[in-house]
Amino acid sequence: MIAVIAVIVLPIAIAAFLLPLPEQAKQSKALKAPVISKANDHFVLNPAGLQKIVFIHYKKGYAKPPWANGGKKETQCYDFLGKWVKWKELPVNYVIDPDNPYGLSEEFVSDAIYKAAEEWDAHTSAELFGSYTIDYESSWDSDAPDGRNELLFGDYPEEGVIAVTVVWGYFYGKPSERKIIEFDILFDTDFVWGDASVDPNVMDLQNIATHELGHGIGLDDLYDTVCSEETMYGYSDYGETKKRTLEAGDITGLQILYGG
Ligand SMILES: [Zn+2]
Repeated sequence: MIAVIAVIVLPIAIAAFLLPLPEQAKQSKALKAPVISKANDHFVLNPAGLQKIVFIHYKKGYAKPPWANGGKKETQCYDFLGKWVKWKELPVNYVIDPDNPYGLSEEFVSDAIYKAAEEWDAHTSAELFGSYTIDYESSWDSDAPDGRNELLFGDYPEEGVIAVTVVWGYFYGKPSERKIIEFDILFDTDFVWGDASVDPNVMDLQNIATHELGHGIGLDDLYDTVCSEETMYGYSDYGETKKRTLEAGDITGLQILYGG
């Protein structure tokens, strides 16, 4: 269960410079808010209060994160953010910021993310994900929750990181009091994003969004290669689309949390 680390909120200095964008990115408009503070600098258990868990999704070939020890359910190909930790108020609405340096249209970005959310919805009787709104002024607020489940592009200052999801909630204490209250998802602009079913040289937005939204509803990463076909497997690469559709372990984990 504890394959992730809970952390207390600590203010982190914002980097005052932009890292270089990929060549293709330089040809289009610059991001408005691409400078991202690293979200996993401090890990402190905070059993009494509000928790933050940071999931870092690495490109294939990068080292397993130090906190990824593997839960006991991992060989069954599902694991949880924390015991009894899930959304208690449904549906979960979300905010999409389509701003990106690749010239991807608002329609493409929102459609990819919507399909990712609906893939989870399709396998549970719960109305898990609701509607989304578009907001070009979203921000990566990994220091404190702001009541909005935001998905946006930005430059995360660590090599090999494809995406980062921060989940906020109450993860300890009485089971009845445990709940997720917010997630925020960042797609790292170190990679070129798009539709890998059309161009295998891009990082597939729908593919990664499906994985990250899995964290948003309470599922943990899997690092056992037995589970490499699952949406919640912890690595991805350019051209990958297999995480767009849930596998047996993903569905089992989903249905334990939200019903079949
Ligand atoms: Zn992950």
